[in-house]
Amino acid sequence: MSSALQLPGDAVASAASSALAALQPGGTTRVHKFGGSSVADAGRILALAPLVEDGAAVRAVVVSAMAGTTNALVAMAEQASSGQDWSGEWAALRERHLATAAVIDPADRHGLRDAVARDFDALRDDLLALASASGETGALVAQVHGAGELVSSRLVQAALGGEAAGWQRLDARDVLVVQPGEMGVAVDWEASRERFAEWRTRQRPEKVVVTGFVARERDGRSTTLGRNGSDYSAAIFANLFDADELLIWTDVDGVLSADPRLVPDATVLPTMSYAEACELAYFGAKVLHPQTMAPVQSRAIPLCIRNTLNPSAPGTWILPENPEGDAEISPVKGLTIVRDMAVLELAGNGMVGVPGTAEKLFAALHRAGVSVVMISQGSSEHSICCVVRASQAQRAKAAVEAAFADAIASASAQGVNLTSDVAILAAVGDGMVGIPGVAARLFAALAQAQVNIRAIAQGSSERNISVAIADADATRALRAAHSAFWLSPQTVSIGLIGPGQVGRALLSQLAAVIPKLRANSQIDLRLRGIANSGYMALDHFAIHPAEAVERLVEMSTPAFDPDAFAAHVRAEHLPHALIVDCSGSEAIARHYPKWLAAGIHVVTPSKHAGSGDWERYVAIREAQRSGARFMYEATVGAGLPVINTLRNLRDTGDEIQAIDGMLSGTLAWLFNSFDGSRPFSALVREARELGYTEPDPRDDLSGLDVARKLVILAREAGRELSLDDVVVESLVPEHLREVSRDEFLARLDELDAPMQARLVDAVARGLKLRHIAHLSQAEGARVGVVALPADHACCHTRLTDNLVQFTTARYASNPLVVQGPGAGPQVTAAGVFGDILAIAHSLSNGIGAHA
Ligand code: ADP
Ligand code: ASP
Ligand code: MG
Repeated sequence: MSSALQLPGDAVASAASSALAALQPGGTTRVHKFGGSSVADAGRILALAPLVEDGAAVRAVVVSAMAGTTNALVAMAEQASSGQDWSGEWAALRERHLATAAVIDPADRHGLRDAVARDFDALRDDLLALASASGETGALVAQVHGAGELVSSRLVQAALGGEAAGWQRLDARDVLVVQPGEMGVAVDWEASRERFAEWRTRQRPEKVVVTGFVARERDGRSTTLGRNGSDYSAAIFANLFDADELLIWTDVDGVLSADPRLVPDATVLPTMSYAEACELAYFGAKVLHPQTMAPVQSRAIPLCIRNTLNPSAPGTWILPENPEGDAEISPVKGLTIVRDMAVLELAGNGMVGVPGTAEKLFAALHRAGVSVVMISQGSSEHSICCVVRASQAQRAKAAVEAAFADAIASASAQGVNLTSDVAILAAVGDGMVGIPGVAARLFAALAQAQVNIRAIAQGSSERNISVAIADADATRALRAAHSAFWLSPQTVSIGLIGPGQVGRALLSQLAAVIPKLRANSQIDLRLRGIANSGYMALDHFAIHPAEAVERLVEMSTPAFDPDAFAAHVRAEHLPHALIVDCSGSEAIARHYPKWLAAGIHVVTPSKHAGSGDWERYVAIREAQRSGARFMYEATVGAGLPVINTLRNLRDTGDEIQAIDGMLSGTLAWLFNSFDGSRPFSALVREARELGYTEPDPRDDLSGLDVARKLVILAREAGRELSLDDVVVESLVPEHLREVSRDEFLARLDELDAPMQARLVDAVARGLKLRHIAHLSQAEGARVGVVALPADHACCHTRLTDNLVQFTTARYASNPLVVQGPGAGPQVTAAGVFGDILAIAHSLSNGIGAHA
């Protein structure tokens, strides 16, 4: 590191450990700047005192107007100039400032009230003058615009203790001389330095409050540094004072990777170079005025952006150069959007290889006073395209048309095209220099977000890549690009529908595992929505899974709207979206194709989609072309890897010949227990008491649920099969199917005689009864009770175990068996969780991002 870097480097290190302790007492000079929000009301103004008690020998505090004041003054100046009434706004603004003064100076020790009242009298006079003025009113308008800084500087001076405490006040117009120009307002350093030196010899101030924003032109006329210009004022005074540091206090923790109002996930940048800050500010990052850096850069004054609302945060240090290793964190530092642009294109075959075309075009624009924000030219030189401000677009078009009138007339140029409603997205970072792939990553992210790029430019410094896009795409593009550079590619926005038994079990599993996944495997699962049939709770960031169910009963919770829910889950600022449907509702399943087509992954333990209407099943398959995946491992055998196994067999080219399974834990338990010692009906009753059956055991005994699972397996095995195609043997005798549940339970022993007869017959043949789902080419799909030899896999299960046996070309004589507990909320939820993780793991290579 060069010696020039040492001070900033140290400052960064100590700022991180303790922001205020870092400030060395003694011979230092420090400039603080407080923005509008930091002086928004009396409470905020009174809170500034401890922030400037920094032990520096010389302190200058540059202030903006109270938040909203300049906007009001700009409006009043316009009203006055156009003959409208401004008195109401003037009175309201005066009242606001007087009320603030009353709180800051309750005993009127500083005479604040009268001083503020006088400032407003002067403002009124200026407005009256403006209303009756004819001719040049620029200085008068500037005087009105700058009135807010004059008053706020009084308020701040008093809040810091006033003259009694040694705080002087400087009206920047007494020393700051500037000249408005093409590139913004330029400082007349010589004149300013001279006046500043003079003022200093007179005042010798050690503590001074300075008005931001305002200045004077060489001829003495009032002017301003342009909207948001008090950052620039602060930098100029840091230079004039030859300060050791400039602290710009605002309402965010520092410079963020993107505008936090557009990208909720934006992160604070600990350091950046002057050049990066310049570029970001130029391309619209409101946190800093674009001209702020030059005056501090020439004296290598470190600049720190800090938060008045959170003064212990270290802030962002802007330094001559980035610390070493900085680019390893992210090659891109910040992303910005500039709106209200237009693309101007001059195209024509006759321009190929004609020297001077570009020069002629830009000269024409220059003469017309149009500033070119971005330039790009195709390497074929077939067209030249540049981006200009929308407000100058028509002027630009006319100027270029005039310059190329001959070429257009002779058809060697096709004419000038103007595309309006354009925004520029700029990615900025010193670390982009020489790092390949940064642009590719940006373009891939934009392509995935379906953002069409109109023009591309890379600054010759390689510190900036800018793309022109449709204005309507701006926020989406910014969020997509931000997530590509700052978020783990495995960040998934999750919505859960139906927090029943399985849903709740999943929530508790998520609560336990999410932090570990984030820490260990870059998988960042964010539960951002939860819904039941009545309500939904949505969160911009994330809902803690342990609190999710409670969020549904809060008073403000809106009614459940599946489309709004899906739109929220598919957040633009997060790379991936996934809905978990634990609702068991057919109505919800109908949304799957639409959700999948929109790029939202769907995971469910519900059988509706997998075993329902064939057309919808096909629609779901097709919708997955978006890259989104539909996963339903938990529909068969709960957490057991049944579907996955089947998929792997097929994907690796095996041929499924038969599937046999015990797919109902209830029926497995019944036949495991049915040895003749107790009647079948007694076992059904016991199973019901143990909670193994549905409330109406006929739902299990009918075999329908098993048939659904068989349909799911058959489809997964590549068959076009529906529930009607399955031959299902119901264990409920015909005459008991329509009776009430109570009557059925009362007449349960009518099942016993036929079942006993089947058992006796099987035992006589040395076989065992099992409830089996079977699928094969020869026998089709059927579900029912069969007698199996004692060495069959299905005869070696325990309790409620599920079992699925795959007979395939490879596993022909010794079939592949998956066996284990196949029911219960915990294992079902684990199956669902497994699907979520399988999807998250597949995302690292960009599969399945938003379509
Ligand atoms: P002040 O009144 O202190 O000058 P501004 O409102 O001018 O504050 O600037 C701070 C605001 O800039 C923040 O509140 C934030 O909304 C906005 N902003 C836009 N882009 C960024 C960014 N990249 N980093 C931080 N803030 C940003
Ligand atoms: N008060 C001025 C404005 O609102 C200057 C500033 O706040 O930086 O533009
Ligand atoms: Mg500002």
